[in-house]
Amino acid sequence: MWKTVSRRHFLKAAGAVAGAALAGVRPAARAQAAAPKKRWFKGNLHMHNQWSDGKPLPEWAVDWYKSNGYHFICPSDHNIFQADDLRFDGFGFKNPPSDPAAFESETSLWKVISPTPGWPKLMQAHVEQAKAKFGKDSVRTITVGGRTYVRMKPFSELEKQFVEPGKFLMIPGYEQTGGCSKDQQVHVNFINVRTVFPYITARTPKEILERTYAKGREAYGAGEYLFTANHPLWRYYDYSPADLIALPQIRLFELNNNDVATGYDQHPEGWKPERFWDVVNAYRAAHGQPLLLGMGSDDRHSYGPRAKAWSVVRAARLATEDLLGAISAGDFYASNGLDFEDIQFDGRTLSVKIDAREEGPFRIVFLGTKKDYDPSSRSVNVAKGLRRPARKIDVYSDTIGATLATVEGTQGAYTLKADDLYVRAKIVKVPADLKDDWQSQPAAWTQPYTRSTNAG
Ligand SMILES: [Zn+2]
Ligand SMILES: [Zn+2]
Repeated sequence: MWKTVSRRHFLKAAGAVAGAALAGVRPAARAQAAAPKKRWFKGNLHMHNQWSDGKPLPEWAVDWYKSNGYHFICPSDHNIFQADDLRFDGFGFKNPPSDPAAFESETSLWKVISPTPGWPKLMQAHVEQAKAKFGKDSVRTITVGGRTYVRMKPFSELEKQFVEPGKFLMIPGYEQTGGCSKDQQVHVNFINVRTVFPYITARTPKEILERTYAKGREAYGAGEYLFTANHPLWRYYDYSPADLIALPQIRLFELNNNDVATGYDQHPEGWKPERFWDVVNAYRAAHGQPLLLGMGSDDRHSYGPRAKAWSVVRAARLATEDLLGAISAGDFYASNGLDFEDIQFDGRTLSVKIDAREEGPFRIVFLGTKKDYDPSSRSVNVAKGLRRPARKIDVYSDTIGATLATVEGTQGAYTLKADDLYVRAKIVKVPADLKDDWQSQPAAWTQPYTRSTNAG
């Protein structure tokens, strides 16, 4: 999914450095080219604003991340890219003006301020807050036919307003949103693209994922974008581990989409996101396929004081190319509160160190699956409930995603044994009421590692 620098290009660059040798700069320049110093960058590649159904105006949303320690974001609204074309419709709304002449020579999406409250309506209060913070020139309104329209800032203008080289980066993208029969929602993000294609409906979640992935390749080429399968557990076990086992081309999924971690029913026997991840990776590792990588994102719609999940990427530069390359290579972790100082895998041993900025105690759990695991599953039928559609839930064996070792402390390592398929590490601060799976908090998750490969 990501083009790495070819050896030919690298050698070409090295040749240019060699040419500078006479000026006495070669050793330093060469060392830099060989091993650029990498650091961690915090980001969120799944969020919403008023371009679709997020509560705040676009600049309010972007500013929130920039002001809260994030280095990069992708404002991924539903089925729309924040482009310059003049429009009055979008995700669940349609508000053509009574007098189109009032918008002559205007661009972008205009939304109507709602007289009544309710999500995800554009509220006067949010407009006033944004005006007070960013000024009337930033938040423009036109009143026509008794309705007040507010202009949504397009991506290009948000970039100019907020991007700062080396400090804050915006990556374009959007969330493909829709579903199929039985109310199964299948959402995916396309990251680093600036055009959308219509949602592909099909009979099953697997078909939607397969065809959307293929259409993405056709529309965006083989290269420089990411495709993520989002929130498998929302609304209610919407797509299954079997779907991603059948589609090894899908390399990224949302392990931690914490906007939906609460407020819906979970079946006591059904898989949770970590088990989902391990079921897919047990199969992929056993069959020599690249492993599935787990992202943390908050899928924000409301902007409360605290985000609930994010991803931290190790790269030499805060640049889209570097970040997407590192994510594709698995050099990142998902978090909802803790950080890794270091993650190293030498082909056999996974070593991690917690960046302990708060009081512990901390725990490192190494998880994985053995070669002789039980791959079978059984189905549980769940009847329709107040907040959930009827579903068949897959239940898998506890031999998948088992604890391989536990270290109490901030530093630990695990060496893959001959019968291990892969290993991953999860770090937690140990509270009295430690929850399991992705609801552990605060916690962070490395990617899975197989022998002699780096996360596949
Ligand atoms: Zn979604
Ligand atoms: Zn979303």
